[in-house]
Amino acid sequence: MTLPPIDQQYMLDFLTGLLNTPSPTGFSAAAIDYTEQALRQFPEVTCVHTRKGGLLVKWTGQRDDHPRALTAHVDTLGAMVKEIKSNGRLKLTKLGGFAWNVVEGEGVTVFTLTGKQIRGSFLLAKSSSHVHGAATGDAKRDDDAMEVRLDALTQNAAETRALGIQVGDFVAFDPRVEVSNGFIRSRHLDDKACVANLVCAVKALHDADLQPVQTTYLLISNYEEVGHGASAGIPPEVEELVAVDMAAIGDGQNSDEFHASICVKDSGGPYHHGLSTHLRNLAEQHEIPYKVDIYPYYGSDGEAYWRAGGDVKVALIGPGVDASHSYERTHMDALVATSQWVLAYVLG
Ligand SMILES: [Zn+2]
Repeated sequence: MTLPPIDQQYMLDFLTGLLNTPSPTGFSAAAIDYTEQALRQFPEVTCVHTRKGGLLVKWTGQRDDHPRALTAHVDTLGAMVKEIKSNGRLKLTKLGGFAWNVVEGEGVTVFTLTGKQIRGSFLLAKSSSHVHGAATGDAKRDDDAMEVRLDALTQNAAETRALGIQVGDFVAFDPRVEVSNGFIRSRHLDDKACVANLVCAVKALHDADLQPVQTTYLLISNYEEVGHGASAGIPPEVEELVAVDMAAIGDGQNSDEFHASICVKDSGGPYHHGLSTHLRNLAEQHEIPYKVDIYPYYGSDGEAYWRAGGDVKVALIGPGVDASHSYERTHMDALVATSQWVLAYVLG
């Protein structure tokens, strides 16, 4: 059978809106709501919130004797206020695994407990080379060397506290979304690109008036970047779980920005050989542009569920994303390929 087409304009619109909705791990309710709003346009799915704050979507199939699930995560890298410094600036603590240098100079939003949003930028404390000379280039970018300069009138800790800022406030880095020549450049394509892949797969079947072969759950998880996103939330009757998350590109990697990848092994070991082989066969059959790869420093929500005791087959697919956990980029070709693969899976 021919797979139904993916609405690429819808994909870009949904993805751009999601990328522009801040959702650092632990503070992703707005992105969950945004995704739910989009899915509520399709009567063939129903949405419930998990207690942990994720979104569990039930996509009714022709049969439900072997239910399946796919998962993608809406939480992203980010930070929290660790300390208010005596100069009124903020020391941060990381949410998720990344190096400070990849966000150096980025715009930030601080979310206070009372709902205020205060802008600023994330800088090396010794940023001015006119003052610090070689130290500006040489300094190790660690927690103590970096600070948030707030766009507010404050010169000491008391004035910063008076703005409403407290230890524990969430901080989001600007995504800087830009679409050009088929490329999508933004922070946090990991894993918002794949949330878009799942939503667009639902839309594609809706538009084509088709149904998944088996009842299929979509878990939009919200704690993946700290390792336990999908450890809860997958219904116990599910027999197979396909995690949809970005493919890692770089020296020695097979993945690129124009293909979807299937990861057969990462830091957590091999994925389920039978399910991975099934997905590879589907890609061959439907001529989906794909690569097979191994990610050296990587864990997924599929493994999170395995480690939590989930007795399911697990596989991992996703679009190639360049400079992951930095200023990321992918191409529409990889996004379309990934959504097609999801369609081949749910229809196969
Ligand atoms: Zn991810």
